[in-house]
Amino acid sequence: MTISEEIMTAGDMKKTGGGGLMRAKNSKPEEIRKSNIQAAKALSDAVRTSLGPRGMDKMIQDPKGEVTITNDGATILNQMMVVHPAAKMLVELSKAQDIEAGDGTTSVVVLAGSLLGAAEKMLAKGIHPTTISDSFQKAAAKSVEILINMSIPVDLNDRESLLKSATTSLCSKVVSQNSAELSPIAVDSVLKIVDPARENNVNLKDIKVIKKLGGTVDDTELVDGLVLEQKTSNVNGPKRMEKAKIGFIQFQVSPPKTDMDNQVVVSDYAAMDRVLKEERAYILNIVKQIKKAGCNVLLIQKSILRDALSDLAVHFFDKTKIMVIKDIEREDVEFLCKSLNCRPIASLDHFTPENLATAELVEEIQTGTSKCVKFSGIANPGKTVSLIIRGSNKLMLDEAHRSLHDALCVIRCLVKKRFLIAGGGAPEIEVSRELMMHANTLTGPDAYCFKAFAEAMEIIPYTLSENAGLNPIGTVTELRNRHALGEKTAGINVRKGCISNILEENVVQPLLVSTSAITLATETVRSILKIDDIVNTIRG
Ligand code: ADP
Ligand code: MG
Repeated sequence: MTISEEIMTAGDMKKTGGGGLMRAKNSKPEEIRKSNIQAAKALSDAVRTSLGPRGMDKMIQDPKGEVTITNDGATILNQMMVVHPAAKMLVELSKAQDIEAGDGTTSVVVLAGSLLGAAEKMLAKGIHPTTISDSFQKAAAKSVEILINMSIPVDLNDRESLLKSATTSLCSKVVSQNSAELSPIAVDSVLKIVDPARENNVNLKDIKVIKKLGGTVDDTELVDGLVLEQKTSNVNGPKRMEKAKIGFIQFQVSPPKTDMDNQVVVSDYAAMDRVLKEERAYILNIVKQIKKAGCNVLLIQKSILRDALSDLAVHFFDKTKIMVIKDIEREDVEFLCKSLNCRPIASLDHFTPENLATAELVEEIQTGTSKCVKFSGIANPGKTVSLIIRGSNKLMLDEAHRSLHDALCVIRCLVKKRFLIAGGGAPEIEVSRELMMHANTLTGPDAYCFKAFAEAMEIIPYTLSENAGLNPIGTVTELRNRHALGEKTAGINVRKGCISNILEENVVQPLLVSTSAITLATETVRSILKIDDIVNTIRG
């Protein structure tokens, strides 16, 4: 008996009737493929209800009882406990779309699920998985071509169009009612950091987003200058400093510790006195040098080895009127240096006036329930932006952050590739229609696969109308008819519940979001199709 026969269940034996070794051998890959497709489709169905402006939100609870409310596909999948290895591929797919485009993370998974359904039908017809996979790749390339043909070029100076695309992205989020405030913030912040030297890309790390509880999402603001979420460490020291000289240090102002876990035992009072005196002299020396360099605002990087500041140091800084802000995170170092146009100072010897940055004003301000420090009038500032997101509770605040991230990504997409397309299911239905026509010119399995691919694209308008409470079959067929009559921009008007020219509704999205959704979804479907076995290893 061969191994594959042994693995077969009794049911399989009955199906194949025990006859024909070939069939017995083939049945395992088929089963595996089927189970992979089922698992991935189930996951895609789970996020389907979140698509579009009328999509629902998910409440996610983690084992610690922490709750997240979100509408973002990537976040939902990322937090789900997915066990099946094929379903995990969809989680990765959503992440890939998040990295590539930032938006369209729900669409990409819904599309992949639908394409898998199409592949399943083709498999049932007896078409070989490799043939399906190749055909789908060709169909995806053709779809991208169709999308490019229907796209509209956009100029970065065309603020209106940028605002519209940011609004479309925000419309389908929990914070949609705040899109009027958030869209201009997203557009302005990305445009502010576009580097003329590297025009075709922007680094979103140059936008620092701070979340502060208190107030509402309307109070979210783009700050002119730099904002640090820490408050000052001074007790009686200055909270406001005009004509600031800022030093950013990476060493600590506290007594040094021994390298290993050693103990120093002090046995008499004289020795104790000496230790205290030494400490005082050590810290005073550092503070004096800092003061001598003319610094009046000191930033200290967070350290895991010892306290950044001892109580004694705080006392001295208070006395010498130096404002101190500690616990600057390591990942913020680059952003901070770029914004302030300075370099971090790694040792006291390098603490010299030329290494300091200058700003007109540094002050501690109250935002909501906590404080933060604002720098304004920075000399030669780098191209960076600080945003303060506000929200009345943590759930809202986090979701506002994720939604704003999507909107920022949409604008980044438009900087990368300056083309827009209509939304509301218009691009998908147009791709579907043109692919279908193209399929009629093909022969062999390609013709079948192209048709199946074209049909699968209809899932987006279908789901959009389903989620909006419309009749999906009626809406999609009407949409198809309107496109057949040449109305390339006809889309689902979710607000009015009808089909209309979606450009007039100002629903536009970046071309890159749609093209990358189709290519990435197809890529994942192809790799799922090509898997014929799951092997578990004993190594952990
Ligand atoms: P994703 O995570 O994939 O971006 P969304 O929930 O943001 O998912 O939904 C995006 C889809 O909703 C796109 O197909 C877009 O065209 C459509 N859409 C967004 N706003 C509207 C609107 N106002 N009217 C119709 N369709 C819209
Ligand atoms: Mg979106």
